[in-house]
Amino acid sequence: MIKVEHLTKCYGDFVAVKDLSFEIEEGHVYGFLGPNGAGKSTTMNIITGCLSPTDGRILIGEHDIYEEPEAAKRLIGYLPEIPPLYTNETPLEYLEFVGEAKGLKGNELKEEIAMAIEKTGLENMKNRLIGNLSKGYKQRVGIAQAIMGNPKVIILDEPTVGLDPIQIIEIRDLIKELGQTHTVIFSSHILSEVQAICEQVLIISKGELVAFDTTENLEKNTNKGSLEDVFIELTANDPEALKNMYREKMYGAQMTPENAATPEVKEEQASPEAPEAPENTESEVREDESSF
Ligand code: ADP
Ligand code: MG
Repeated sequence: MIKVEHLTKCYGDFVAVKDLSFEIEEGHVYGFLGPNGAGKSTTMNIITGCLSPTDGRILIGEHDIYEEPEAAKRLIGYLPEIPPLYTNETPLEYLEFVGEAKGLKGNELKEEIAMAIEKTGLENMKNRLIGNLSKGYKQRVGIAQAIMGNPKVIILDEPTVGLDPIQIIEIRDLIKELGQTHTVIFSSHILSEVQAICEQVLIISKGELVAFDTTENLEKNTNKGSLEDVFIELTANDPEALKNMYREKMYGAQMTPENAATPEVKEEQASPEAPEAPENTESEVREDESSF
C-alpha cells in the first residue's frame, strides 16, 4: 500500500531522515514509534506529500507522491502534528470546506460529513465554534477531516498528544475502530500507546529505522523482557552494536519484515555499510531534544 524507498531528508547540513526504506501493507494498524526529534513528523510529511524529500521515492498504491500527487493523495487522509483547523468555523462548516477541497459534492459530501461526524463522536459539537472546543474535540475534528472521502490509508501524527487520560482512551479506541476498515499509521513517542493500539511497530531513531516488526516478535526475538526494553536499547542509548545485532538477527541488513523484502534492499545487504553522517553534527543539533 505504501512503499518508502531510500528516503532521506536534510535540513541544511542536518540529516533528519537517513535512507529510510519500509513497506506498509493494506489493512493493518502501524505504530511509528520514536523519541522526540527522531524524524517521525518529517517522514509523515513527506509520505503525505506535504514536504519534499532530499532523496528517495514514495509510492502510495501505484502512485508516486510527487509524480502523481492527486492520485496518491486521494488514497491518504492525514492528521498533521498541528491540525490546520479554522477556529472561527464550526466542525460542520470546516468539514464541508475540507470535503469540497477533496472534490466531494452534493449527497456524497453530505454523507461523508455525516459519516465523519458519527465516527469521531462529534454530533453534539458540530455547531460549536472549533476555537471553543476542548483539545480532545479539536483532535476529533482533525481526525474527521482526515477520514473524509474514505481514504484507504489514514496517517495520524501524534494524535493523542496533549489530551487528558479519558480523551486518550477515546482517541485510541477510535484509531482501533478505524483500523478495522482502513490502513492506519500513527506516530507516538509513547510505548504503551503503541502496544495498546497496533499490530506492527516501526521504531525510528535519529532518522533511521531500527526495527520493524510485531510487538510480540520485537520482544521475543531480541531476548528483551518488554517492548520498553527494546525501545530503550534501540533508541535512547542508541548502541550501534545492538542495532546491528538486531538487524542481522531479524532481517539481515534491511529493515522490512521478511515477507516484505524488496530486491533493491536485498542487493544492499551484500554491500558494505553506507557511510554515516558525522555523529557530532547530529548530537550538536539535537542537544536540546530530550529523548522521551
Ligand atoms: P519527531 O516528529 O520524531 O519529533 P521531526 O521529524 O519533527 O521529529 O524532527 C526531526 C529532526 O529534524 C529534529 O531534530 C528537528 O529539530 C529537525 N527539524 C524538523 N523540522 C525542521 C526544519 N524545518 N528545519 C530544521 N530542522 C528541522
Ligand atoms: Mg513530530
